[in-house]
Amino acid sequence: MERTLSIVKPDGTKKNVIGKVIDRFESAGFRVAAMKKIQLSKEDAKGFYFVHRDRPFYDELTDFMSSGPVVVMVLEGENAILKVRELMGSTNPAEAAPGTIRADFASNVQQNTVHGSDSPESAAIEIPYFFSSLELC
Ligand code: ATP
Ligand code: MG
Repeated sequence: MERTLSIVKPDGTKKNVIGKVIDRFESAGFRVAAMKKIQLSKEDAKGFYFVHRDRPFYDELTDFMSSGPVVVMVLEGENAILKVRELMGSTNPAEAAPGTIRADFASNVQQNTVHGSDSPESAAIEIPYFFSSLELC
């Protein structure tokens, strides 16, 4: 069993596809261990994407992530980190495999509907960024 942190990004909540995104995860056998809808501040978004602080898109990315509500969730299942990334598809929806979440819902390389932890090390930082141990069940 493995846990990963996923986010329906502001473009996804705006397009009303929260349920469709969650359905992709549940239909693939993952269990929602925790979930909430929140509005990130610019500082919250900067903290979450701190690993990208030196990338040229950091400022625009954190503006985007704080531009509207997001749904943050912890998904649990076998090989969750890798499998959720597969269900999401490539960062750029133009390169995402058909049938992936990003191929079906994302607008562009920035507004790409969904986030998923990219490694066990990232998941171990990202899950407690949003949830206390009491909120995981
Ligand atoms: P995420 O971390 O959100 O799951 P990812 O792991 O596929 O996405 P990263 O390289 O970690 O991709 O980039 C984080 C986010 O930064 C992307 O999901 C996207 O929203 C934004 N981003 C990445 N590359 C670019 C770019 N070239 N231009 C604009 N935004 C970008
Ligand atoms: Mg990433």
